[in-house]
Amino acid sequence: MELMRVVEARRPENVGRVVRIRGWVRTRRDSKAGFSFIEVNDGSCLGNLQILAPVNLPNYESIVKHLHTGASIVVDGTIQASPAKGQATELVAQRLELLGDADPTLYPLQKKNHTYEFLRTIAHLRPRTNTFGAVTRIRHRVSLSIHQFFHENGFYYIHTPIITASDCEGAGALFRVTTLDPARPPLRDGQVDYTQDFFGKPTYLTVSGQLQAEAYACALGKVYTFGPTFRAENSNTTRHLAEFWMVEPEMAFYELADNMDLAEAFLKRILRDVLQECAEDMRFFQERVDPNLLQRLEQVLQTPFRRISYSEAIDILARAGRVWEFPVAWGKDLQSEHERYLAEEYFRGPVILYDYPRSIKPFYMRVNDDGRTVRAMDVLVPGVGEIIGGSQREERADVLEQRMREQGLDVEAYRWYLELRQFGSVPHSGFGLGLERTLLFLTGLTNIRDVIPFPRYPGHAEY
Ligand code: ATP
Ligand code: MN
Repeated sequence: MELMRVVEARRPENVGRVVRIRGWVRTRRDSKAGFSFIEVNDGSCLGNLQILAPVNLPNYESIVKHLHTGASIVVDGTIQASPAKGQATELVAQRLELLGDADPTLYPLQKKNHTYEFLRTIAHLRPRTNTFGAVTRIRHRVSLSIHQFFHENGFYYIHTPIITASDCEGAGALFRVTTLDPARPPLRDGQVDYTQDFFGKPTYLTVSGQLQAEAYACALGKVYTFGPTFRAENSNTTRHLAEFWMVEPEMAFYELADNMDLAEAFLKRILRDVLQECAEDMRFFQERVDPNLLQRLEQVLQTPFRRISYSEAIDILARAGRVWEFPVAWGKDLQSEHERYLAEEYFRGPVILYDYPRSIKPFYMRVNDDGRTVRAMDVLVPGVGEIIGGSQREERADVLEQRMREQGLDVEAYRWYLELRQFGSVPHSGFGLGLERTLLFLTGLTNIRDVIPFPRYPGHAEY
């Protein structure tokens, strides 16, 4: 028997084929005309395959008539053209086997729509819903496009460490990695003695693969990392996770404008692929989540991203004539409300902000000639705010070392990073794109906990 997935069985060119389908029952309806209609989904696409199960199946009375939502089945049958609306084909069953039943008094996913909040409490079952099936397929497609885009543009994929001894941002928000017994850690002078820890010093989960990616960019030219990233910031927002996925390209010989060009081309490529390859899932989000979604995304694809300096942005915000929760002033970091105003209301499309005050940005960003600003760039998009953060990196060893001291970093711990500037230093740039923020942008969903399979955030590490 030829195995076929629902996505193929739904195509009209397969009418007449005799196939085996395996999946989970979404609904069953018994008709008086001598058969039952069973909607089956196997995750291969949003749409279900309608099974016509005739009463003359040997197990019709014993099994078919008692199939419940969520049960797993195997069906052998013939694909035929369907007279029903919304589907080209249906499957006439010749044999139907029940693999695992789902007790309707216990199975939480009944036919009705569930809230996202409820579905978060059953994260092991929510992939069986339309929304999470669609998110999952789009997440896969985006991941694939990321690799394709970089590969086609001459980048190498670098696996940077998950455990690190350096804190890329020079600030807290780190998860510690240790094998010491927290109840009885070895002490020396009243302090925990990390020389006795597994690595002989304090180590953490990575907040970014950038510094290590820079080492490889300064040898292979163009590289990227793509992996899980951890931040222990206690920000219980709809845009932050404690564990998220980040893509970080790093390019030798790239200045800030090249970095912006790449970020824009990259985002547009992901967008184009998803609109093309995930059309059915994207229509679902348009219909169920955000009626302006497709129009907004098409527009993003067509228009060049606006590019303005941080200082210009501050002027625009100061003139906006509204009361901000966080006051606007040159030298202060922009908050989500400011970013969204710029992208959603003022420019009504993606904006790249650049040249931020040096005091609010990490040590590795290149200091501009004005001495007050650094070559940072953030890409802001409607619906999300910041989706990309990047910069041209400081390539001058002396300036970099001074910036480290300025920010109170242990220069010796970053000796290797300084050496990248001491030997064959080149201008270089890179950025980080949050995968989950990208998925919010693409799907119109509003909570980041709904675009990753098993979200981790303060107080939550279930499953
Ligand atoms: P924000 O100001 O929004 O907290 P950030 O400036 O700390 O973000 P960066 O260090 O610039 O973030 O990280 C690069 C990208 O990674 C961000 O533009 C965003 O897309 C994503 N990102 C950062 N922090 C998180 C998080 N906690 N959860 C999910 N994505 C994140
Ligand atoms: Mn940022």
